[in-house]
Order: sequence, then C-alpha cells, then structure tokens
Amino acid sequence: MADITAVLFDIDGTLLDMRGAGRRSFALALEHLFGWKDNLDYINFAGNTDLNVLQQVLAHRQVHLSEQDIAAFFARVPQELEREAQEAELVLYPGVRPLLETLAADERAVLGLVTGNIEACAKIKLQQFDLHGHFVLGGYGDRFSDRTDIARHALELVRERLQPGQQILRCVLVGDTPYDVAAARNIGALAVGVATGKFTLADLQKAGADHALENLFDTAGVIQLFGLSTP
Ligand SMILES: [Mg+2]
Repeated sequence: MADITAVLFDIDGTLLDMRGAGRRSFALALEHLFGWKDNLDYINFAGNTDLNVLQQVLAHRQVHLSEQDIAAFFARVPQELEREAQEAELVLYPGVRPLLETLAADERAVLGLVTGNIEACAKIKLQQFDLHGHFVLGGYGDRFSDRTDIARHALELVRERLQPGQQILRCVLVGDTPYDVAAARNIGALAVGVATGKFTLADLQKAGADHALENLFDTAGVIQLFGLSTP
C-alpha cells in the first residue's frame, strides 16, 4: 500500500475569490442578529479565521457574546453567504480544477482543507464551483482561531485515515498568505505559497515559503513540487 502525501489547501485567495461575499455575509449576520451596522473595515480577512474575526469584532466593540449568540451567528453567516454568492461574480483561479481533479484521482494523495472558514461556509464556497467532493477532510475555523491549530487538526485527521502499516510520506500546505506559510512550517509541512491572493511572491518567500508560485496553472509542475509525479 502506497504511503500518503497529504495535500492541504487554503480556500480564499488560493483556490478562488468570492469577491467580498464572505466579508459581506459576516457584516449582514452581525446586523441581522445583533443590530450592529459594521463594515468591518478594521478587519484584515486575508489569512484570518472566522472565529478570530468575530473575536476582533467583539474586542473592537468592547462587547461579549454568549455561547448561544456565537452559535447563532455562525449559523446565520452561511445563510447570508449563500445569498451573497449568487450576487457576486466569483472567480476560480487558473489551474485549480485540473490540479484538484488530478490529486483526487491519485491514490497516493489525501486531499484536505486548512481554512479559516467555518465548515458550512467552506462547503458553500467550494460548491459554487462543484469542487467540494474532492476533499476528504478539513480543518476549519469553527473550533480554532489560530491557523496553526487548524492545520494541526487537519493533519491529525489524515493520520486517523491511515491503514495499518501506512505512513504519511509528506505533508504539503498550499496557501496565499504568510499565515498559511507559518502554519505549514509550524506543523512541519512543505509550505507552498501561491500569489493569487493579496500577497506577492516576495511576501511569501520572505515568510519562509519552500516554494512560491504565481498561480497553480502548471498542473504537472505543481504535482512535481508535491512529489507526486507519475513514475
Ligand atoms: Mg487565503
């Protein structure tokens, strides 16, 4: 049985661009549930996690929410996102679909998510391009505000899937921000930065990326970086 290469992807800025639908759905849910009109312009969403964004909002407003309010909020955001996604001109980055299809068909690879999105929002975003089915596991922003904890959790889920005698040969984490690079390094993964989001190749290199790519267009080249070329 082949040893496993875990390939973990961030979503926003790495696979696709929701054109601000995520930010708007957050703001709409805050307004609907708590009556706060907040354009969230003091929040940096890139590389952030949903739980951390909410914590930043609460700190900014100097308010506290109960567990039930937080649960209600994270139940509302996906409803708003569904609606916002319909209105926005969403973008799937070049090469993403063939790359995911190639990896999903490779029995040596386990394909997962490491995203700051809560699980329901991650699913909605991927469903816009019918990509959700390619991922067999994920670490999400529901439980952890720190991206390293999300990545560590995803890697743990990969371990749980191993058959007896099977090992993780390599773990690759692909993301568009220095936060993804840091999380990759913290869990001992190969850090692949992709400059399709708000950060440049130089930013990603400076953050310590093992590889920094303009985009994921060159399927064969990317697969080779992951150590998954066909022998
Ligand atoms: Mg991202």
